[in-house]
Amino acid sequence: MTKKMLKCPYCGAHWVELDKDECGETYTLECEDGCGKQFEMYFDAS
Ligand SMILES: [Zn+2]
Repeated sequence: MTKKMLKCPYCGAHWVELDKDECGETYTLECEDGCGKQFEMYFDAS
């Protein structure tokens, strides 16, 4: 299991997602602890 630190581009809230770091995948995430908005985040192969 891997952890990825994320930041909401709208309200700046930080949280940790698990197993959301597959290379080349674009995830639609929701800022559950903050503003509640959805945004897309792309995780590259780094
Ligand atoms: Zn937010």
